[in-house]
Amino acid sequence: MSFTLLESVAAARAHCAERRGAGVTLGFVPTMGALHEGHLALVRRAAAECDEVVVSVFVNPLQFNDPGDLERYPRDLQGDAAQVRAAGATMLFTGTLAGFFPDELGPDGALPPEAHVAPGPCALGLEGTHRPGHFEGVATIVDRLFDVVTPARAYFGAKDYQQCLVVQELARRRGAPDVVVCPTVREGDGLALSSRNQLLSAEERERAPALASGLFAARELFRSGVREPGQLVAPIEAAVEAAGFELEYAAVRDPGQWTAEEPQAPLERAVALVAARAGAVRLIDNLDLGEG
Ligand code: AMP
Repeated sequence: MSFTLLESVAAARAHCAERRGAGVTLGFVPTMGALHEGHLALVRRAAAECDEVVVSVFVNPLQFNDPGDLERYPRDLQGDAAQVRAAGATMLFTGTLAGFFPDELGPDGALPPEAHVAPGPCALGLEGTHRPGHFEGVATIVDRLFDVVTPARAYFGAKDYQQCLVVQELARRRGAPDVVVCPTVREGDGLALSSRNQLLSAEERERAPALASGLFAARELFRSGVREPGQLVAPIEAAVEAAGFELEYAAVRDPGQWTAEEPQAPLERAVALVAARAGAVRLIDNLDLGEG
C-alpha cells in the first residue's frame, strides 16, 4: 500500500475527498505525535477495519492550558511517519492553526471565541476542572479534523477516558463518524504509554507506575465487593503519595453515566481515574474496575 506524507491541511482535505470519491472507507487516528505503541495499536486496529488509514499529527495549542507543557511537548514528524507507515497507515498529515482555521483565525493569530466548539456535559469535572479550556480546545480541533478527513470511523484511546466521552458526544451531535475506543497500552510495569513519559527523569520514570499500581489495587477492592467511592480511591491516593508525586485527583465514576461530581454509593460499575504531577510532567490514567 502506498504512503503519503502531507504537510498542509488543504492537501490533506483534497487527498481524503479523492479517496472517499474512489469508494474507499477511511479510518482516522488523530494524534499529537511523538508516537508510541499506544498510538500504533490504534493505527493497526484502524488498518484491520478500514480500507485506508489517515493519521494526523498536530500539537494543538488550543488544548494546552499550560504554555510550558506546550513548549516541552515532544515532536518527531519523520519518526512518526516511518512508524505509522509500518503499522499500516496510508497517509499522515500535519498542519498549522492557520491551516486548520484559515477563515476564522484573527489577525493576532488567535482563534476568536465564536469559532470554538463547546464540549458537552462530559467535559465537566476532573480533567475539565483541572485543565480549564482543555476540552473546548479538543472539541474545536476534533470537529475540524472530522471535517477535513470525513472518516467512516475514528479511533481513540481509552487512556484519555474523558476525552473519549467528549469526542463520542461530538460525533453523536455531528451524526458521524463511528468512534472506536481502543484499550490502553501499558509498559510491562503497568505505566500507561504516553508521549510525555519521555520527559520523565530516570528516577521519576521508576516511580511512575504508581498510578497504575493504585488503579490495580482499587480493582482488587472492587472485585472483593467494595462499592464505596472513598474506599476505592484510597489505594490510588496512597500509591501516588508514596511515589512522592503531587496528586491532582483520584476519583471514581459510573462508566454508564458521566457526572461532574462523585456518584452516590453503592456503585454497580465503576471506572477509577487519576491525575498526578511527576515534577513538571502531568500523568493521567484510568481503569474500568469491573473489567479484566
Ligand atoms: P495523543 O497523541 O496523546 O493526543 O493521543 C492520540 C490518541 O492516542 C488518543 O486517542 C489517545 O487516547 C491515544 N493514546 C495515547 N496513549 C495511549 C495508550 N497508552 N494506549 C492507547 N491509546 C493511547
